[in-house]
Amino acid sequence: MTELIFRDDAYARSCSARVTLADDRGIRLDRTVFYPTGGGQPGDTGVLRLASGEAIAIVDTVKGEAPDEVIHILAPGSTLPAPGAEVTAEIDWQRRYRLMRMHTCLHLLCAVVPGAVTGGQVSDGKGRLDFDVPSASLDKEAIAVRLNELIAAGHDVSPRWITDDELAAHPELVRTMSVKPPVGAGRVRLMEIKGPGLIIDLQPCGGTHIRNTAEIGPVAIGKIENKGRQNRRINLAFAPP
Ligand SMILES: [Zn+2]
Repeated sequence: MTELIFRDDAYARSCSARVTLADDRGIRLDRTVFYPTGGGQPGDTGVLRLASGEAIAIVDTVKGEAPDEVIHILAPGSTLPAPGAEVTAEIDWQRRYRLMRMHTCLHLLCAVVPGAVTGGQVSDGKGRLDFDVPSASLDKEAIAVRLNELIAAGHDVSPRWITDDELAAHPELVRTMSVKPPVGAGRVRLMEIKGPGLIIDLQPCGGTHIRNTAEIGPVAIGKIENKGRQNRRINLAFAPP
């Protein structure tokens, strides 16, 4: 079991930790700031610094089989640290911050486009969501204007925890059909984006988010692609400065 620091503090860039296991799959730590691939968000990259000053490059992060198990993947040919070794775990913050901004932007896109989300992916600098809607209902310019308005308005983004039972009683909270909320632990984390007197988006999400929509900055809508019957893919990217 790994203490997931990013879950409570997405802005934590580094932490001290102890190696609990190191094998050919990667390194497990007792606590980590590294987000593992999941919910459409890529895993973090970065370094583990040993007391000797040696830095071990982490090229990807994934989930293990055990609950809350995080596997830090090394570059090929790296030397494994010994179990028990004290390290400083440090993510590539510039990259993670771009992923957090784009991830949170996809929540806003959910709020702008009515319809079930059938898939999605965040990558460095861009993102996409698939919606089960007829194509005629999507106006690219109108979506871009509304999305950038919500970003610029500087709405708060914050977590709210509910019980599994409360979530089961409100199935409408689950917007994304492709990502099942992590139920079974007794409670589920919702992410809420709130404006004055209204909830803009509220849905279960285990990813990392920024605190305020203004941090996203201007975005541009790319192609709206036809991905099968009633399945439209909306691509977006950070607007060039
Ligand atoms: Zn999210």
